[in-house]
Amino acid sequence: MSHVLPSRPPSSPPVLGGPARVVIREVGLRDGLQSIATVLPTARKIEWIDAAYAAGQREIEVGSFVPARLLPQLADTAEVLAHAKTLPGLFASVLVPNFRGAERALECGADLMIVPLSASFAHSLANLRKTPDEVVAEVARIRAQRDAAGSKTLIEGGVGTAFGCTLQGEVAEGEVLRLMQALLDAGADRVSLADTVGYADPASVQRLFEKARALVGNRLWCAHFHDTRGMGLANAYAAWQTGIERFDACLAGIGGCPHAPGASGNVATEDLAFMLERMGVHTGLDVPALLALRQRVARWLAGETLHGTLWQAGLPKAQVAAAANALTAVAGQPL
Ligand code: ZN
Repeated sequence: MSHVLPSRPPSSPPVLGGPARVVIREVGLRDGLQSIATVLPTARKIEWIDAAYAAGQREIEVGSFVPARLLPQLADTAEVLAHAKTLPGLFASVLVPNFRGAERALECGADLMIVPLSASFAHSLANLRKTPDEVVAEVARIRAQRDAAGSKTLIEGGVGTAFGCTLQGEVAEGEVLRLMQALLDAGADRVSLADTVGYADPASVQRLFEKARALVGNRLWCAHFHDTRGMGLANAYAAWQTGIERFDACLAGIGGCPHAPGASGNVATEDLAFMLERMGVHTGLDVPALLALRQRVARWLAGETLHGTLWQAGLPKAQVAAAANALTAVAGQPL
């Protein structure tokens, strides 16, 4: 008896794996820096962006347009964005919590603005002082403003606390999906899912991302995982298997929740890049260069708790030798 595999639609990933190429969007300069006390000087942020770009990163969230009195760490976002825009092919995004922030993102010509929405009603009121549906209404105003300005800035609706929340506990999948659809209906170009507090596990990730893809197709744009309970990479792997092609990550896993001491931040960029590259998934990233940048950032952030694993053990020996050979080959080229 022959077994014939049922045919799958062309957009779905291979059975045993996800996309052959993925983008890792660096969010350390926003999600990372906003959660720690150190205020990194603008010149350092620019150095960071330049080195990340040299290591192959082509999407960077450079800051957030929030009042400086609320987040002094990100007060220089306009300046940092202006620098990011000088790097050819770099797609620079910013977070905008409200209409005023969106106006600034439009004025400054960000390539993309992320409007955070918390699927948890309680978290939304506590953090954004709006209900989730009021955020949806704000996105409609932002879309109208963008269109009136003739701007090309894309709007991403970032649905946070999608896997649960510290205040409310459970967040229903149906509510997350409803809000994703509502954001798109209000004019967002794309939507993302974020496990803001580290409640997700690979099974819940697989379930929600598959449902989300079935609902909104390739307008499901990015996966954002925190490694709060050590499941960040496993969750990223699960999302990748459902076809996700873009992940947020923070170099050195910086960030976390200021109210939960010891809680780690986003999945570490260098660890995620290493995992994907080892699996044969193309990220376009130079992992040794990311490790070198991590060392510099660690010096700048002396006294802050950093995370991540790869830096402790280093690259496997065979990979170090291959990287060294590649360097020698380049150095040996005639000019
Ligand atoms: Zn986050």
